Amino acid sequence: MSSGDVRLANHLNCVAYVKRLLKKDRDVKKILRALKGENWDIAIRCLRCEGDAFRGGYDSREKSIVLCENHLQREDTIRKTLKHELIHAFDDDRGEIDWDNPRDLARTEIRASRLSGECDLMSEMRRWSVHRWPEMLRERWARKNWEDSCVLRRAAGSVFSSGTVGSKEEAARVVKRAFDMETSADRSPL
Ligand SMILES: [Zn+2]
Repeated sequence: MSSGDVRLANHLNCVAYVKRLLKKDRDVKKILRALKGENWDIAIRCLRCEGDAFRGGYDSREKSIVLCENHLQREDTIRKTLKHELIHAFDDDRGEIDWDNPRDLARTEIRASRLSGECDLMSEMRRWSVHRWPEMLRERWARKNWEDSCVLRRAAGSVFSSGTVGSKEEAARVVKRAFDMETSADRSPL
């Protein structure tokens, strides 16, 4: 296939999966229902993203979600990325986020990582090279909730790439503090 064909195939693939998820996925439908209850509309777009840093994003000003069609080719990863971004949209809709405040960002990133399913075991195994699986498994099982090490790591990565903190260490600190302050995990609207 030519590169133009690949681009077109990626786009059509992403659009078809999104369409199916909007119609059939229980969690996606639940979040959308919670948003639409307030007559709140959201645009979901499959686009080509430059660079390798992002899989998707939520734009609070435009009320839109972008899914990076060149990085997301499997239905499962599209589902998890879409759910992640929809959780940000839901938190935005609740009026809980000042997007320039790292503490608010940490809270919504923790929820998005936890509720999207991106920290389940299969997703983690795909991210880690095989020779590091024992390390990853040890880290996961050292915690009461075995997904927490992934949630903390991914939320810190997102807070750092938002540019609201000066270093990766600061991002990790802000996320850990937000995480420790939770009295119980807020799973709304799921
Ligand atoms: Zn996020």
